[in-house]
Amino acid sequence: MSGKKTKFIFITGGVLSSLGKGLAAASIGALLKARGLNVTIQKLDPYINVDPGTMNPFQHGEVYVTDDGTETDLDLGHYERYLGIPLGKHNNYTSGSIYYEVIKKERRGDYLGGTVQVIPHITDQIKEAILNVVRNDEDVVIVEIGGTVGDIEGQPFLEAIRQMRFDLGKENVLYIHLTLVPYIKTAGELKTKPTQHSVKELRSIGIQPDIILCRSEMELDDSIKRKIALFCNVDPDAVFSAVDVKNIYEVPLAFYNEGIDQKIAIMLKLPAKNPDLSPWVELVDKLKSLQPGVKIAIVGKYVDLKESYKSLHEALVHGGIANNVSPELIYINSEELNPENIEERLKDAHGILVPGGFGHRGVEGKILACEYAREKKIPFFGICLGMQCAVIEFARNVADIKQANSSEFDPRTPDPVIYLMTEWYDVRNKCVQRRDPKSEKGGTMRLGAYPCKLKKDTLAYTAYKQDLIYERHRHRYEFNKKYAKQFEENGLILSGLSPDEDLVEIVEIKDHPWFVGCQFHPEFKSKPMDPHPLFVHFIRAAKELFGKGR
Ligand code: GLN
Repeated sequence: MSGKKTKFIFITGGVLSSLGKGLAAASIGALLKARGLNVTIQKLDPYINVDPGTMNPFQHGEVYVTDDGTETDLDLGHYERYLGIPLGKHNNYTSGSIYYEVIKKERRGDYLGGTVQVIPHITDQIKEAILNVVRNDEDVVIVEIGGTVGDIEGQPFLEAIRQMRFDLGKENVLYIHLTLVPYIKTAGELKTKPTQHSVKELRSIGIQPDIILCRSEMELDDSIKRKIALFCNVDPDAVFSAVDVKNIYEVPLAFYNEGIDQKIAIMLKLPAKNPDLSPWVELVDKLKSLQPGVKIAIVGKYVDLKESYKSLHEALVHGGIANNVSPELIYINSEELNPENIEERLKDAHGILVPGGFGHRGVEGKILACEYAREKKIPFFGICLGMQCAVIEFARNVADIKQANSSEFDPRTPDPVIYLMTEWYDVRNKCVQRRDPKSEKGGTMRLGAYPCKLKKDTLAYTAYKQDLIYERHRHRYEFNKKYAKQFEENGLILSGLSPDEDLVEIVEIKDHPWFVGCQFHPEFKSKPMDPHPLFVHFIRAAKELFGKGR
């Protein structure tokens, strides 16, 4: 690190969860970046899981994966989409990961027989994790504390960030508190009491917020801002409205119009230029002129919690922006699909997408959706498990491998077209990975970015226009190359392979407007200003079908 002091912005949340703290943090990051500052961002999650990798998407939403193969909280997806910088393992810590490190040190004897306590051992470990995110001489680090002030698990994080102002100096640390200012219809008023209470809670542990961001249905007028300022002990011009917007990509401009980034720059004495927000203005303009009508059916298992498909949802929106359409996303529970109702459920779809997933529940419905898309020539996009389902369907119904299955769903299948490789060379980790198919969990997952070379004259190549791509993975099972010839003879094209040609990364079929399955998760790399090529081409094909009428 040079002599320059990195400044830290800590963002806490009050009153209740789901206020969009992640989006607020990402938007502030985007604005500071647009001011020419070198910014990075980190999420600290209070739960005890060591990482979210083992958490059920039904409960916790999507598990986001970074290039370096870290399974992270979905807020990292927002951060990457808004800031356009690749993040990794240093950008997300959980209470569990912090405690795990401390316990490992204790077992090693690093504490020399001392009593290991929350303060100072856990808090020191948290502070180390925060300082550790500074890797490229950043001007600003934004740290979002998950959960809500008052949560029991979050207390060590709050204590650690309280100490950091002493450690680093007042001028280098800023606290932003995001709260809710509800509008009570019967009173016809915006209410400040919940904000007062949550700031009181924060102050009782020694943190005085510098800026208060108030989520509300409507703009806060000056009298409300003055009231909050008075009761919460902040400058009246440090109380901002964060009004609900139509589209999440409007948040950075809304914050800019409020003057939030300017206030931050002044308070932290940042060497900030006037921001260049033209890409955001252009994006928001485009969002307003998108054409409706294109319907995309997402046939998956976690359809009741939209957060489970967060990045996927966004990537489809991005693909829409590139094609000037606003796709209508219809989530269909694959467990409910059967040969009797499939026509009725999918008859309006201009594109069908089968996303990733784990376990056999709902798989036959997904396979049915693949068959429907293939036969009816509806643009189809299969992602990870979705690609595996498309391969199984093709095997059973086209290549005449009647009992084809994935060994994940039927360990005794005579034709495991999708299987657990017992040995493969892991280019990223530079080692041979060995897996025991008999073990309960089936060994390690392939996680993070891996190279894939593309065959010319394929849908994949037409989309990427590159010979070599890197995409992020999160799966255990692979296409079984033993069947490659049989597949190819029947018209399945293996259009993307690992450089050593051992792993099949992309498949597509001939004589179809657009039918692509990929073993990786392209949705993790799509950005509003840089939409992912496969999503762009999938939506383009769906738009074409819409144009022709279906
Ligand atoms: N369950 C499949 C596997 O482990 C697919 C995983 C996924 O879709 N992310 O290979």
